[in-house]
This record gives sequence, C-alpha cells and structure tokens, in this order.
Amino acid sequence: MNILVINAGSSSLKYQLLNPETQQVLAKGLCERIGIDGKFTYKPEGKTAIKEADVAMPTHNEAIKAVLDALVDPANGVIGSMKEIDAVGHRVVHGGEKFAKSVLITDEVMAAIEECNPLAPLHNPANIIGIKACQSLMPGTPMVAVFDTAFHQTMPPAAYMYALPYEYYEKDKVRRYGFHGTSHKYVTQRASAMLGKPIEQMKLISCHLGNGSSIAAVDGGKSIDTSMGFTPLAGLPMGTRCGDIDAGILQYLMNKYGMDIDKMLNVLNKKSGVEGLSCVSSDFRDLENAAAEGNEKAELAQKKFAYEVRKYVGAYAAAMGGVDAVIFTAGVGENDKAIRAMVCQGLDFMGLKLDEAANDVRGKEAVISAADSKVKALLIPTNEELMIAIDTAELAK
Ligand code: AMP
Repeated sequence: MNILVINAGSSSLKYQLLNPETQQVLAKGLCERIGIDGKFTYKPEGKTAIKEADVAMPTHNEAIKAVLDALVDPANGVIGSMKEIDAVGHRVVHGGEKFAKSVLITDEVMAAIEECNPLAPLHNPANIIGIKACQSLMPGTPMVAVFDTAFHQTMPPAAYMYALPYEYYEKDKVRRYGFHGTSHKYVTQRASAMLGKPIEQMKLISCHLGNGSSIAAVDGGKSIDTSMGFTPLAGLPMGTRCGDIDAGILQYLMNKYGMDIDKMLNVLNKKSGVEGLSCVSSDFRDLENAAAEGNEKAELAQKKFAYEVRKYVGAYAAAMGGVDAVIFTAGVGENDKAIRAMVCQGLDFMGLKLDEAANDVRGKEAVISAADSKVKALLIPTNEELMIAIDTAELAK
C-alpha cells in the first residue's frame, strides 16, 4: 500500500510517499515559497535530490500538482500512475476536543477541523488548504487527517485544566491540548518494542527536543500530561520560544515599552528561548560551539534548557508514580549527546544512570543508560511520517 503523507504549511508543503508495511520511502521532498517564487525539491529513493527554482506555484494546488507529476515522471518517478497512491494522510495541527484519533476525512470532518481554526490560526487553515488541494486533484482517493493534539486527549482534567475561571473552559475551550502527539505516540510504541514489554505495562517519559520541544508522560500507552499547553508556546524553553513564564511579565514589559500584545507575542515566540537567552542562535550546534569558545550566555542557555527538561522528567515520574524509561527524540534529542548527558545528570537518585560510552551515538535507536540502570534512557529517532502513514493505511482499508 502506498501512502502519500502531506504536511502543509502556509507557504510550504512537505511530502513523502511511503509504504507503511515495508517502511520503504519511495520519494520525499518539499515545496517552498508557495505563492511567491516556488521552490521544489524531489528526492526519489536511491537517487540524488532534484531541486528546481522558480516553479510556478501560485497556490497549494500547483504545488501538489508538481508533487504528483514528479511521482509519475517517466524518468525520475517512482510509480506508474496516480492510481498507485492508495490514500493520502494529512498532518493537521489542531483537532481540539473533537478528535482523539485520526479520522477519514468527510465533509463533516472538514467542517469540524475548520471549527478548530481559532485554536491554531497559523497552522490549521494551511492544513485545510492542503487537504482541499489534494481533494481537487485526486478525487476518489481516501484522505485521512492525523492530529498533533489527538494523542493527548487521554489527559485527565487535573492535567489539562488551567486554574482560570471555569467558564473560559466551558465557553471558550481554554485548556491544555498539547502537541507533537504523533511523535510521542511513535517513540513510545518503539520504546515498548525495543524493551520487549507491552506498552500497557509501561510508564514512559518522551522528550521531543527539537526547534520546538515538548515532553509527555505516557502511562500504559496513554498520554497523561504534556508540557505544551493551549498553544505550542508553553512548557520548555525552545529555539526561539520562551516556554513557561510568569504571565505578569507581559503586563510589566508591555507597559514599560509600550508594546501591544502582537509585539509582545512576537518577542515570546520568535525572539526568546535559547536564542534570546544566549544572544547567539536558536541552533544547539551554534550554542555548543560558542560555549566551547567560552561564551557564558551560550553555556547558560544550554544549562537552562537541560535544567528545565530534567525538572519535567522528575515531575512526570512523580505524576505517574514511577518511570520505566526516558526517551530522547527530535533534532536535539537525537543528535546532542551533551544535552542528553546534562539532562540525566543527578538522576541516579531515581534510578537513572547514563552510560557515557553508549550515549556517544547519533540518530539511531539505542539504549544509552548503564546496564544496571533501573530506569532506561533511550535514543529513538522520531518518524511522524511513518506514524501518519500507518494510521492512514488502517483507516483507508
Ligand atoms: P527539529 O525541530 O526536530 O528538526 O530539530 C532541529 C534542531 O535540532 C536544530 O535547530 C538544532 O538545534 C538541533 N540539531 C540538529 N542537529 C544537531 C546536532 N548535530 N547537534 C546538536 N543539535 C542539533
């Protein structure tokens, strides 16, 4: 079964054609600068990537058309015709409280996704445009929506409610939703397979540490708490996002500098995090280089990040009444051994001991804790596309 996975943003679109049974990726790529000057990247399996600039892509329709043309191209295509695409899986950021699982897309589902637009105004409208473009170019092909929020719908009210007047939840749906659900679901399932223990019997802490970062407490395969909240701004400090801060700071800074709320949020989303703190970069590779050269703010940003991750690990172990394994995934989690070591530092008291030599690894599944560590530490590369393809294939059947 061939599944086309689409992750549509407002001016970009990532795609992958894969077979979820064999896990073979037939082709993947990226459409960028949609509506501007169209850049197209296409990488068929086993061949070098083809990059084209100035491809006419006034809308997402032309972008998807370019993807489909490339997939069936006689020279570099990977399938004979579009009929060989059995279904399309769409990443949708926000499913609100309506979607606790992936769903086959119908008119009612589209309407319900549109109702979630105010909860993710930057992402959901773009996801919808991607779905509509595919529907118009591939009529009759089943389409599935896979939500970033769905995996966290199992959280109990004590975890998802904010201590605000109750009416804001009832009337306005203000609550913790959590994100990166597809990634947390994938890596916790892999952890269960790696350790050979049914997920129903496991308490896992999944640390998705990338440019955006979140942590999830997964008890018996169900998310019971997560660090991102009503929006992806909450929780850990990130590349450029501040994570949790005292809401009183907003009033103080807005008054002092005459900022309106849009300006303030721009600072919190785009100018904060490890970039804001280090005054160097949002990229952990740059932080490491700068810290090695003696840059104290870069070192502080690394320490602050690792400290907050460690606090969540402790908090979620307490929330679940124990933990079997801590998982590291995403760009930083998969590649940055120094950050992983800093996070695990001092966690011997709860039975987690890192193996320095085993931790000297990048981008592949590995147990990185010591042989006698009661709590395992695992490196598991995330694969959101595969998870989306698996859900899509199941629903399309
Ligand atoms: P993601 O959002 O999961 O794609 O992660 C992207 C981030 O991963 C980048 O901004 C970097 O900070 C980080 N990253 C990628 N490669 C490395 C590396 N080799 N060492 C440290 N950090 C890395």
